Amino acid sequence: MRDAGFIEHDVLRTVMTSLDVEESMIAAIGEREQDLHDRMLLTPEARQGGCEDLREADSTRVEPETHAECPECLREGTTWVHLRLCLACGNVGCCDSSVGRHATRHYEETGHPVMRSFEPGEAWRWCFKHDLLG
Ligand SMILES: [Zn+2]
Ligand SMILES: [Zn+2]
Ligand SMILES: [Zn+2]
Repeated sequence: MRDAGFIEHDVLRTVMTSLDVEESMIAAIGEREQDLHDRMLLTPEARQGGCEDLREADSTRVEPETHAECPECLREGTTWVHLRLCLACGNVGCCDSSVGRHATRHYEETGHPVMRSFEPGEAWRWCFKHDLLG
């Protein structure tokens, strides 16, 4: 197009420069996504089993107070997404994706540090105190 004389040289240079900028912005976004992706893959394993609360918590010792519902949600008329079981006292509460966030609130009220997933087929545990997966 330049050779054919349709566009002034300066105009073309401006366009090319902004295309370059755009391209490098796209590259930077790609790198950041890769970086986040790598970190998410690394985090659970790197942090697994790392605190005394997780070592001491024993899921066989507690008797769950309910088996299929979040009692606080029933009381407040909200619904839950997933259930969590407190390994210190057997309290059943809902996850942070639920409106009530009753498992987290139970930790804030009692200081009981470790919960486990109370979903069928899930056995992971979480220490609220240290933000650790175990
Ligand atoms: Zn801990
Ligand atoms: Zn709840
Ligand atoms: Zn508890």
